[in-house]
Amino acid sequence: MIRGIPSSPGIYMGKAIVEFSQDMIDYENIISDDEIQPNIEKFRNAIKVLSTDYNAIINDVDKYQPNIAAILESNLMLINDEILNNNIIEYIKKGFSSESAITFHYDQQKNFLLNTQDSILRERAFEIENIKERLLDIIWNRNEFTKVNSGDILIAKNITPSELIHYFKIGISGIITEAGGITSHCSILARSFMIPAVISVKDACTNIKTGDNVILNGFSGVIIVNPDNQEISDYQLKTIIEEEHHSRLGELRNLPTESKDGRKIKLMSNVDTSHDIENAAKIKSEGVGLVRTESLIIGLNYFPNEEDQYTWYMHFANRAYPDSITFRAFDIGGDKYFKDTEIFEENPALGHRGIRFLLEKKDVFKIQIRAILRASVNKNIKFMLPMVINTNEVKETISLIEQCKKELKQEGYLFDNRIPVGIMIETPAAALISDKLAKYCDFFSIGTNDLTQYTLAADRNNQKVNSIYDSFHPAVLNLIKLTVDNSEKAGIELSICGEIAGHTSATKLLVGLGINQFSVSPSIQLDLKKRIRNIKYNSAKVFANKILKFESPEQVRNALVNSEKNN
Ligand code: PEP
Ligand code: MG
Repeated sequence: MIRGIPSSPGIYMGKAIVEFSQDMIDYENIISDDEIQPNIEKFRNAIKVLSTDYNAIINDVDKYQPNIAAILESNLMLINDEILNNNIIEYIKKGFSSESAITFHYDQQKNFLLNTQDSILRERAFEIENIKERLLDIIWNRNEFTKVNSGDILIAKNITPSELIHYFKIGISGIITEAGGITSHCSILARSFMIPAVISVKDACTNIKTGDNVILNGFSGVIIVNPDNQEISDYQLKTIIEEEHHSRLGELRNLPTESKDGRKIKLMSNVDTSHDIENAAKIKSEGVGLVRTESLIIGLNYFPNEEDQYTWYMHFANRAYPDSITFRAFDIGGDKYFKDTEIFEENPALGHRGIRFLLEKKDVFKIQIRAILRASVNKNIKFMLPMVINTNEVKETISLIEQCKKELKQEGYLFDNRIPVGIMIETPAAALISDKLAKYCDFFSIGTNDLTQYTLAADRNNQKVNSIYDSFHPAVLNLIKLTVDNSEKAGIELSICGEIAGHTSATKLLVGLGINQFSVSPSIQLDLKKRIRNIKYNSAKVFANKILKFESPEQVRNALVNSEKNN
């Protein structure tokens, strides 16, 4: 049994295919003088072939899937980077083979990123490694893709977006990678394509062999290699339960989301890709509570223009209509990597991210506001600000929005003049002054992922503090309660959109704390609806009040487990 981080849900058993790994290449593989020009040509040809491949895939990608196209475009820019390519040619001119030159220069770039403290930049190093390997494949006339069949589980050091699209089309049923974080490109796409995935699995490519039978659990992160009969029958049982569970859940689609004693709960979707918005429509989600707009532009080397952004937002808003859709302004910085903003910060999570970044880059912010306003003509869009810590940030944004409205009016555009503007409550500061912030906001959405990180001073992406990073800590729960109370007093809407909202073990507690709007990934929504329909609001309130008095996350978890047993 091996463990990794579960990054895309689902349980699956299948044949492992380990992606071939490259041979070690000598940085100083010397060639004779008359081989120099042919090696330069080989390198130029590889760049040409790879660029053509990338352009073809970019054209093939769904035009409403800007995040995938964006990732590919950023890779394409690296492939055609003039400085890098000139350096490689100069290296060949010194008498080294094209393979040595590519390997030396790409490794240099990769090692620089691997040595940074920023986990997102370190992840980007794997993309560089992949491009290098592709160039070498072309030079050696070797097929880019490992041969897989529909139903196989792919084991790789890392998978590029273009590879993932290729393998998805063939029909792979599981992914295991050595690299990656939950917010990596690979994870986002695997979730969108609904392929179960476990990432960050140490030495997966050596511990698993092609042809091994593998059980992959994308819920728990557990991988069983060559399971025995007992483990296989456990797996079969689990999948039968899973399938039955899903077909029963299907019946829930048309039933209302309400507690046993009639408290109505609104169930909305978190959307990262255009697949998510289609899935949200399929399960009859009651709108979209969070679009992470920055995930639409992951990997772009520039901020998209107003027209492009308008087209995406309009498409998403139309798919959600007549339900509402909440676009969150670009939450750039922190753990959200963006090429244009590669400024080195000692501590990016506490640095120039979210609203801080946007208010400094008002030109960028205004383009997004204008595009969102223009897409709001059907009056189903809400606009949300990330990482707020004080009222000035909200006031300044509102005056920027008013300025954009004025300009758009003069230019003859139509828009929703009363577009609701709200904020994420994801810092302790915002929760503690939520009574003050409520005066300037139409709604709140609690982001427990960051609220937990900042309350407990524990990096959400650092495995070393995994056990400390706990959204069930009473400090986090009390901040949630305070925010709920203040939103009720102010009479503004409140939802919750962090990961905790999707844990069915937390549902009774969250409903009891007074939350009546949940925004979660479409894939877990029917499970959540089932859970909500089994809860009594009145007893959930008593339960939540008891939990707020606990002193440790362990006590909270025990109470949740005991309450499940008694149900
Ligand atoms: C959160 O912080 O809980 C949240 C929903 O935002 P993100 O995960 O995008 O930071
Ligand atoms: Mg957040």
